[in-house]
Amino acid sequence: MTDAFDLFRISPDHEELRDAVRTLARDKIAVHAAEVDETESFPRDAYVALRASDFHAPHIPEEYGGAGADALATCIVIEEVARACASSSLIPAVNKLGTMPLILAGSEELKRRYLPPVAAGEAMFSYALSEREAGSDTAAMRTRARADGDEWVLNGTKTWITNAGESEYYTVLAVTDPEGRRGANISAFVVEKSDAGVGFGAKERKLGVKGSPTREVHLANVRIPGDRIVGEPGEGLRIALRTLDHTRVTIGAQAVGIAQGALDVALAYVKERKQFGKHIAEFQGVQFMLADMAMALEAARQLVYVAAAKSQRDDPDLPFFGAAAKAQASDAAMRITTDAVQLLGGAGYTRDFPVERMMRDAKITQIYEGTNQVQRIVMARSLLAR
Ligand SMILES: Cc1cc2nc3c(=O)[nH]c(=O)nc-3n(C[C@H](O)[C@H](O)[C@H](O)COP(=O)(O)OP(=O)(O)OC[C@H]3O[C@@H](n4cnc5c(N)ncnc54)[C@H](O)[C@@H]3O)c2cc1C
Repeated sequence: MTDAFDLFRISPDHEELRDAVRTLARDKIAVHAAEVDETESFPRDAYVALRASDFHAPHIPEEYGGAGADALATCIVIEEVARACASSSLIPAVNKLGTMPLILAGSEELKRRYLPPVAAGEAMFSYALSEREAGSDTAAMRTRARADGDEWVLNGTKTWITNAGESEYYTVLAVTDPEGRRGANISAFVVEKSDAGVGFGAKERKLGVKGSPTREVHLANVRIPGDRIVGEPGEGLRIALRTLDHTRVTIGAQAVGIAQGALDVALAYVKERKQFGKHIAEFQGVQFMLADMAMALEAARQLVYVAAAKSQRDDPDLPFFGAAAKAQASDAAMRITTDAVQLLGGAGYTRDFPVERMMRDAKITQIYEGTNQVQRIVMARSLLAR
């Protein structure tokens, strides 16, 4: 029986991990966050620092050379990095997103070939599901993979792919049976950056997470060995959506981190700034805003952590909790970062303070890995199936 005092408490190991990531993020990542945003450049210093501490892909199991972090520990890493720099937090987040299809459904051989280089920090792994005309409606994808002897030949364009061009490896979803049942005619493959016929579009010009490159991935007669399929033919979309059940929790963690970063800045500012002869922290109107921000943040954090535990156990209600954690935390992050800008007044609206960046970065958490409307569809589906 669990000690009553340990119920609902993060373990000392997880708290130790949080302290370590927080220190690293403060000393080695936060200092570059404004520049990474301003210059729209990949956060290379952050990647080096994350690799040196094994925080770049912490979820990879030990048997494949990884740190073997559980789902909660992975969320804590992403949260603490996002608190300093959202773009940098996409390194561990997208390494998990890209490799999760392999971890869930890949052959032992594929896992042995592709997980160790990611664990060692020699390669990153992206996830290529979306297309220009197939965003929320993923089953409408047009990318094709045709069997040719022992090989597959891929053609099409995947859109909005995070870290495309930087990553060595890609989980690519493609239709393998054009005449087959919609959704059940899609398969997942590992494509390498170096495969002949792989190309990348220009970087998207984005509102936020500007340090994380988002590009199209072009596939022109890309010929890959037959054993690069992940799972069985026709299982691809199921694997891709199961992956998102797990990784939406990490986007919730990213949102919590961004929101915490903004609250930190707002708290420090209101204790310094004086108007009407006193610190603005003394005004009850300001205090109520801070209380509401912290309350929403803590509610989001708790939901993310519960969802992380469900992800770790692979609970049957993970789809509901993953969607709820992502939607709740990202909506909270948008409100909290907007209020943080408000509390800094004119200063908050300038690039001299980090809250405007955090507000722009928060917005993406409501959109990717399924918009928050799509999360509500997922939640409603779970509720109505009970
Ligand atoms: C910075 C960034 C990074 C990304 N990274 C990746 C990545 O690494 N890999 C990847 O595969 N994809 C990635 N994406 C794609 C992302 O997941 C999609 O943009 C998202 O799923 C929405 O698809 P869409 O943009 O086509 O919007 P649409 O599907 O066109 O949606 C437009 C609007 O309609 C609403 N809507 C659509 N359908 C419904 C419905 N049935 N009910 C109610 N409302 C609905 C949406 O909620 C939204 O408000 C990324 C996107 C961005 C912007």
